[in-house]
Amino acid sequence: MITPNSIPVSTPPADDSFRDHFNGINEDGKRNWFYPQKPKGVWHNRRIWFTVVILTLLFVTPFLKYNNQPLLLFNVLERKFIIFGLFIGPQDYWLFGLTMLSFMVFIVLFTTIFGRLWCGWACPQTVFMEMVFRKIEYFIEGDSSKQKLLNKSPWTGDKVLKKGTKYFSFLLVSFLIANLLLSYVIGVDKLSKIISEPISQHVPFFSGIIIFTAVFYFNFAWLRDQACTVVCPYGRLQGVLMDRNSIVVAYDYKRGEPREKLHKGHDRTAGDCISCFQCVAVCPTGIDIRNGTQMECVNCTACIDACDSIMDKVGFDKGLIKYTSENAIVSGVNKLITNRTRGYIFVLVLLWSALGYLVVSRNDTQTTLFRAPGSQYIENKDGTISNLYTFKIFNKTNQIVKPVIHLDSPKGTLLFAGKPDLTLEGAGMSEGTVFIIIPKSELKNRKTKLKLSVYQAKEKLETFETTFMAPEE
Ligand code: SF4
Ligand code: SF4
Repeated sequence: MITPNSIPVSTPPADDSFRDHFNGINEDGKRNWFYPQKPKGVWHNRRIWFTVVILTLLFVTPFLKYNNQPLLLFNVLERKFIIFGLFIGPQDYWLFGLTMLSFMVFIVLFTTIFGRLWCGWACPQTVFMEMVFRKIEYFIEGDSSKQKLLNKSPWTGDKVLKKGTKYFSFLLVSFLIANLLLSYVIGVDKLSKIISEPISQHVPFFSGIIIFTAVFYFNFAWLRDQACTVVCPYGRLQGVLMDRNSIVVAYDYKRGEPREKLHKGHDRTAGDCISCFQCVAVCPTGIDIRNGTQMECVNCTACIDACDSIMDKVGFDKGLIKYTSENAIVSGVNKLITNRTRGYIFVLVLLWSALGYLVVSRNDTQTTLFRAPGSQYIENKDGTISNLYTFKIFNKTNQIVKPVIHLDSPKGTLLFAGKPDLTLEGAGMSEGTVFIIIPKSELKNRKTKLKLSVYQAKEKLETFETTFMAPEE
């Protein structure tokens, strides 16, 4: 039976009743708390190095600036985003939408080819859980058997010290992650200003830091593997994103089955799996990868290392569990680029082309200038005609802009009501009313199209049009 928490990629074993229940919950309806053994091996070492790179990038990026603004900023509160120097403000919802859409198509394409490579190597949840919090836990409480013993033991001074040190360390790291998150939301400059000023001046932000610290602490101290197996929507979508050509951490059942314990001195007729259960013992989500690809597998590679070390010990070839695909196991051949991936690549190229065009052709300002509702033209004594307009100028950059509106054609003048200061803060907006005055000699029709531009100093930021009404000749 295939349940929603299963992914029918690898051929399941004859008895697939394990799919009928969620392994994070036991038969009494209580949580199965997993104590994975310390992973070690070639793949784990690779992941350690990759984690160093990822964490360095995560912590250094908020300090990187381009054009005097952060390289990345996700200010959801003010709807301001900066993606590698490209500022996306509240006016650029279409740009934001298209960026998100192409990001989603990219995720679909990436997952179809490489499965959950992201989850195992780069997802902040796995990186922090397995490479930071779990390491702290191993350091303080020891490997899985010692952790189990400690949890069962009575509350002695040693236990209080170990548990206290562990959870206090968890709290500190959660606080650090909360600050890291905020540095991506409001930027490091604002964050350091807030931290250096009295709490009373920034109560909402300090409350935010406390709330996020509590959420991260809850996540890494209690929720743990269930963040991936129950909460994460990406994890739940694996069943539709992956296919038989996707690269996953998989057990080579053709080589491993039938599994059988190793009996010294006996001629072995069974497969290479010696049923040592080491792959299960190291799994942070508590699954048995030999049952086939499952939604709970975050592709952390711990079972590859565990099995490789067993294969080494018993003198069999490594790679009984490895990165491969279902088709590669069955036929020995794998196709990374299929018609499905070609389709995704085609859509992605279209989206990126549209995105590129929109970014290149994008103006720094967006101006709307309409005739004031209900207003008529005014015939002036000096032989000119006036129309009254209301205007709005939006600054689509994150820098201060001092715009000047200029009438390009026909000849005429602009007379602003009240001499407004049009200076625009980053992502700011300015509005007002203006008379456009044009000599009658320039107007041939009742309705004339006006061409206007917005300048900053000598730089033309934008051109736009509006209509001008004049009496019938
Ligand atoms: S099955 Fe293997 S790769 Fe998947 S989560 Fe468990 S240990 Fe990690
Ligand atoms: S670690 Fe390898 S040999 Fe041991 S049970 Fe798992 S697949 Fe079989």
